[in-house]
Amino acid sequence: MTTSAELIEVSERRSAHNYHPLPVVLHEAHGAWVTDVEGRRYLDFLSGYSSLNFGHGNEKILAAAQEQLRNLTLTSRAFYHDQFARFCAGLADLTGKDMILPMNTGAEAVETAIKVARKWGYLVKGVERDKANIVVMEDNFHGRTTTIVSFSTDPDARDDYGPYTPGFTIVKYGSADAIRSAIDDDTVAVLVEPIQGEAGVLVPPDGYLTQVREICTEQNVLMIADEIQSGLGRTGRTFACDHEGVVPDIYVLGKALGGGVVPVSAIAADEDVLGVIKPGQHGSTFGGNPLACAVGSAVVEILRTGEFQVRAAELGGIMHARLRELVGHGVVTVRGRGLWAGVDIDPSLATGRQVSEALMARGVLAKDTHGSTIRLAPPIVISEEDLLWALDRLAETVDSL
Ligand code: PLP
Repeated sequence: MTTSAELIEVSERRSAHNYHPLPVVLHEAHGAWVTDVEGRRYLDFLSGYSSLNFGHGNEKILAAAQEQLRNLTLTSRAFYHDQFARFCAGLADLTGKDMILPMNTGAEAVETAIKVARKWGYLVKGVERDKANIVVMEDNFHGRTTTIVSFSTDPDARDDYGPYTPGFTIVKYGSADAIRSAIDDDTVAVLVEPIQGEAGVLVPPDGYLTQVREICTEQNVLMIADEIQSGLGRTGRTFACDHEGVVPDIYVLGKALGGGVVPVSAIAADEDVLGVIKPGQHGSTFGGNPLACAVGSAVVEILRTGEFQVRAAELGGIMHARLRELVGHGVVTVRGRGLWAGVDIDPSLATGRQVSEALMARGVLAKDTHGSTIRLAPPIVISEEDLLWALDRLAETVDSL
């Protein structure tokens, strides 16, 4: 048998060091539990950055994938296939939008939204060619492509990747006034995460999304909500925008849309927006492939029942109540919504990395983000008992700092 230590050593030697994983080598998983190559079990409190909302090895998702694997896996978009219509219609209905443009990764979907917004700006709004501007937020995270990192404010994500793509104005997250002042005649869109995930699960002030919506409508600017991490049940609603009853012009979706099985992303919008893209003007060999569509349709079916949204809200209430008790005991603040939390550890006591490693030793896998924040996002299938068990392990860990 190959040990964790051996596998880590080869991984470090033979792969680029663009991640700094916790020293655990996973082999199998079911529900909220994962097992490493030595047979040690851990509760997964990261869920593949919210890609595993419906649990590892979800039966409905696996069944859809297995059946599709036998039938048809790839056609390219040169032809239609029998899973495409169902997926697009299902996801369009779930978002309340006319149309879907499927892609693979989150960054590709964000790029797609940017391209659609620019084209809409030129063809519909009448912005002068190559002058389009998009308002984005400080501390955003939308992916890793050269255009997306061009408007990142995180030096790790951005530095030394220039020359950068122009056409973005960065404003303070959570300030509607800042957006209002940044918009001019060339503005085609406001791109916002309804909750900033990578920044540390930052929830904007109440009413912010409503104001963003109002400003965008008043100014004839598209509101693009990047719900890649916040959407699809995580916050206790289908979309984080639902908490304010806000409907953006473009939803950007990914992560959990692929059920933790395959990369599936998409944007959803009405025809007056998505209709600007004509044949040959955008695409992807794998976007909307039969396997992705079968899995995506299973995810849409699961979300249609509303069961996971209710569960995330209920378990989230329990989790946040328990987390609030930790404030003052090694924890400075706790934020979040639904089954999603950012926990700021007192930086004078430990780094987020040290806490993640200590939690791992106690059987819980969570990951730090930005220094001293730990992000908690267990699969929504987690039992209340397991959730409380893991939170007790966190309480022990922060108490011992
Ligand atoms: N947008 C948001 C809000 C994200 O959280 C992420 C990934 O963490 C992305 C976009 C990028 O997704 P991907 O890593 O699939 O490209």
